[in-house]
Amino acid sequence: MNLKVLILPGDGIGVEVTREAVRVLEHVSHKYQHTLEISEALLGGAAIHQSGTPLPDKTVELALKADATLLGAVGLPEFDNVPPEKRPEKGLLGIRKALGVFANLRPVRTYSSLLESSPLKNHLIEGTDMIIVRELTGGIYYGTPRGISGEGAGTTAVNTMVYTRAEIERVARMAFRLARGRRKKLTSVDKSNVLENSQLWRKVVTEVAGEFEDVALDHLLVDNCAMQLVLNPRRFDVVLTENMFGDILSDEGAVLAGSIGMLPSASIGEQRESGAWVGLYEPVHGSAPDIAGQNKANPLGAIGSVAAMLEYSFGLKQEAEAVNRAIEFVLGQGRVTADLKPAGAPATTSEVGEAVCSAI
Ligand code: NAD
Repeated sequence: MNLKVLILPGDGIGVEVTREAVRVLEHVSHKYQHTLEISEALLGGAAIHQSGTPLPDKTVELALKADATLLGAVGLPEFDNVPPEKRPEKGLLGIRKALGVFANLRPVRTYSSLLESSPLKNHLIEGTDMIIVRELTGGIYYGTPRGISGEGAGTTAVNTMVYTRAEIERVARMAFRLARGRRKKLTSVDKSNVLENSQLWRKVVTEVAGEFEDVALDHLLVDNCAMQLVLNPRRFDVVLTENMFGDILSDEGAVLAGSIGMLPSASIGEQRESGAWVGLYEPVHGSAPDIAGQNKANPLGAIGSVAAMLEYSFGLKQEAEAVNRAIEFVLGQGRVTADLKPAGAPATTSEVGEAVCSAI
């Protein structure tokens, strides 16, 4: 297969973790005889320095040509006090919008060698393996009317949670397709006992389920889901929910796995003529200025994002599994960065990348 990938290292540790992720991508492509067509562009603070804007036109142009984009992280302390529209983070929202990605996927899995890093008891989280699918472009974060009006005790703030049938259908289909390739269980999360918006959500998801009869669908109210995620995380396979609920639940899910440096994420849009699904892949963490430039950052979130790219954009499940197994192997060997190894000699960012390549 020809894998057309754009790399956006961004700022701070984004540059360091992306270097290792690319190394792994090259390694796995070579091993499984895929051709890799890589381009690289600027985003965030690095782009502001070179071209005065966090998202140069050239970057958007290359992203639209690529099938998948791998992003490090953006953000530099020198921009902390500038207005939001001039900050590096503006580039992140811009690239998501330009690519039209509407579903955010957060795989949450626990690794046996890292169970001690989780705040939950081992017997509760061992074997957890789920994906939270969050709708990314609609809901209360974007709905209008919105704003604050009035004065004094009557000051009123309004936000609007709005979804169309079409928006729910497309993200639901994506979640069902994912479930079909996994354990065939989908849990749709809403607040249909209170919100009309959630009533439509539940109705449409139930209708879409008719197209996927091999997938078992259940519905959970969001408050119960928040509880079940820590009481019985193994019960979940694919969790589907709207934007704000997903924002909150995916951070709750993130805690199950241990360090923030471990977590990959994927944002997916429409399918291209080539068959690939447009996707933006990035570790969940930021640019970590406190450890940037020191070869200390954990690259496994970025490397896990490569596995997600292989699976979700290119449908290369075997290759993705090879990367995930290599991550597990390296963790089992204790070759981990300082965030996972408070005592003893930690490995460097590049040593972990090298170890993952050898394990593949
Ligand atoms: P952060 O994720 O960068 O760092 C939080 C803490 O986690 C820090 O102590 C950091 O050292 C540690 N950490 C993060 N990733 C790590 C890794 N891979 N290995 C080891 N330790 C790791 O969040 P922050 O400090 O709140 O933000 C720093 C900058 O990053 C800000 O400019 C922020 O706006 C930006 N940011 C960007 C993204 C993104 O690009 N997607 C996400 C979050 C924050």
